[in-house]
Amino acid sequence: MKICVIGTGYVGLVAGTCFANSGNTVYGIDVNAEKIEKLKNGVIPIYEPGLTEMVRTNLEKGRLMFSTSLKKAVENSAIIFIAVGTPEDEDGSADLSYVISAAQSIAKHMNGYKVIVNKSTVPVGTADKVKETVASITSHPFDIVSNPEFLKEGAAVDDFLKPDRIILGAENQKAIDMMIDLYTPFVRKRERLIVMDNRSAEMTKYAANAMLATRISFMNDLSILSEKVGADIEAIRKGIGSDSRIGISFLFPGVGYGGSCFPKDVKAILKTGEEYGHHLRIVNAVEQVNRSQPLHLLSKITSHFGSDLSGRHFAVWGLSFKPNTDDMREAPVIPVVHELLRAGATVTAYDPVAIENAKRKFGELSGLSYAEDAYETLKDADALVLMTEWMEFRKPDLQKVAELLKKPVLFDGRNLFKLGKMKELGFSYYSIGRPVVSPK
Ligand code: NAD
Repeated sequence: MKICVIGTGYVGLVAGTCFANSGNTVYGIDVNAEKIEKLKNGVIPIYEPGLTEMVRTNLEKGRLMFSTSLKKAVENSAIIFIAVGTPEDEDGSADLSYVISAAQSIAKHMNGYKVIVNKSTVPVGTADKVKETVASITSHPFDIVSNPEFLKEGAAVDDFLKPDRIILGAENQKAIDMMIDLYTPFVRKRERLIVMDNRSAEMTKYAANAMLATRISFMNDLSILSEKVGADIEAIRKGIGSDSRIGISFLFPGVGYGGSCFPKDVKAILKTGEEYGHHLRIVNAVEQVNRSQPLHLLSKITSHFGSDLSGRHFAVWGLSFKPNTDDMREAPVIPVVHELLRAGATVTAYDPVAIENAKRKFGELSGLSYAEDAYETLKDADALVLMTEWMEFRKPDLQKVAELLKKPVLFDGRNLFKLGKMKELGFSYYSIGRPVVSPK
């Protein structure tokens, strides 16, 4: 099948490449000419495990093509995916301007029946808006399918190749059949296609992200109570996660969820609630808890050092919002670094892959520098602040960390280390929802 994917970001590039890998001919289209030039040469502008090899293989086989021009791609394709960004608008709603602009461009080049697929995360009613937009420009027949994406950055290729489920929202059986045909190679083992109406499909994506965000904020809120009552949230996590009705996933307490999806999608569904006259009380609380969670870690820092951090220097490990990605969008480290600098401190940060994106995100900030190596950050530092649970931070040489810091003080936003071990090594160790460790 010939298909077109508009938007070659985390979702569009992975989806397009995986479709090409299953034998389809795929046109990857983006308005960003620099990105397209890189992709044509097999250079991947994002960090995503396994993606580079797959893009290069499919480029070489001629199944994957990249362009900034949509005309040929639309004319030749039976299915056209819209996978552009839907960032948060000023009022918290999803900004649909990129989706609508992509829909207009598709309509201009249509030459017969097309299936137009909303893969971007879009609020309820967007399929109707896209339908109206396309119909106002062309008289060629088409169907709109809502096919939200559930891949996780850092494991995107694997998630796409082995999805938990594929949601297809559509009105017309012909369009559904074409989509089932396209997805069949990814669901050979077990039927994972769930067909529904467009609105339910659109809501399913927000409901999934809001539910996952709820679990995280629930644990973060409980972690603060655990600290107050002298309990250990890690024991509680295992205790409740072993209940099959609850499950162990998405129960890690930490510095709050970040990234390009949860924060904006939680706000967007709240906005949808407002628009339709139903205030989502639980989701609202989830958002509030998340907003304050990075500041909870900061409060531990200021309770240890005092609120004036002038002359203090901090090492920060981890910049991306989670491991295995270079994505800095809404990363919890952002408010933490800003607050440390605002309180007079200086910071040296390290991340295995996100430093370039961090430099773009923070810009030139007086007091913020970067190191090439995790241990390098520790030189002359008053404390280490651990923000992302990258694999290389999970088993560091803690003895060396203790020796390189001025004094062994560690603020762990991800609960990576055992309390007993930290005590033994003489650390002042602050984590989330667990008792404070003070040196012997
Ligand atoms: P992204 O910002 O990485 O990529 C979007 C791409 O679309 C950019 O390269 C941009 O240049 C391009 N673009 C914008 N307007 C265009 C147009 N008119 N024509 C061609 N290209 C255009 O975004 P992303 O992370 O891939 O997310 C895309 C959508 O998928 C969003 O709605 C997001 O919420 C959703 N989503 C993202 C993830 C994720 O983990 N990143 C997971 C599931 C769903």
